[in-house]
Amino acid sequence: MEKVFSRPKCMTATPYHYCPGCDHGIVHRLVAESLDELEIADKTIGVAPVGCSVFAYDYFNLDFSAAAHGRAPAVATGIKRTRPESIVFTYQGDGDLAAIGTAEIIHAANRGENITVIFINNAIYGMTGGQMAPTTLVGMKTATSPYGRDAALCGHPIKVCELLSTLESPIYVTRVAVNTSANLMKAKKAVKTAFRLQKEGKGFTFVEVLCICPTNWGKAPADSHQWLAEKMIPVFPLGTYKDKLGVESKA
Ligand code: SF4
Repeated sequence: MEKVFSRPKCMTATPYHYCPGCDHGIVHRLVAESLDELEIADKTIGVAPVGCSVFAYDYFNLDFSAAAHGRAPAVATGIKRTRPESIVFTYQGDGDLAAIGTAEIIHAANRGENITVIFINNAIYGMTGGQMAPTTLVGMKTATSPYGRDAALCGHPIKVCELLSTLESPIYVTRVAVNTSANLMKAKKAVKTAFRLQKEGKGFTFVEVLCICPTNWGKAPADSHQWLAEKMIPVFPLGTYKDKLGVESKA
């Protein structure tokens, strides 16, 4: 009999260190399932960030490299250019990618590196204790914005998909969420599409996943998913911002 919930081959049995209810584990699984289904796990190299997913390499049966804070796209560029037959991806949170790593992600995207970036946006710094991130919503309370983010003082949330989609080179830029079953299925499809395009040598692919951080949001996981739907998605609308090859209309 076929197992319905067997662990993807390219995941280890290591228990997650993530907080209960965190979405990181779900997104890890989407990555692993996609690599297995595309039969590319044996030639895939991941690049782990600094942040809550710093130990991502413990959870995948893949070759992995660690990068200094924010530099994962630069490290991935080096790996891909020296091993072009490899499938290379970064897995980064919003503090890593949209704050200290802003330059790296923009220039890797602008060069059209044939890599895949999985971007976890939970609107807050997770690992370091819930400080305001570039993606924090206006009015959202964090450890460093106890009265709520003030746009006059700190600007507005950076919308990375919208920003990268203005560049000429990226071929696939999309934003998904994993807060409902329907969104989860769309997220899986997006992650798999991104890796398939890389496998075909098409160019730079970027999948932003809106996620919850129950610990630093101070909410239970179910309430966090509700908050994500009501507050986050209106600011970060789901959808595909760039599909240069029209892959979604052909799907
Ligand atoms: S701090 Fe937030 S993002 Fe980090 S593991 Fe905990 S719930 Fe997940």
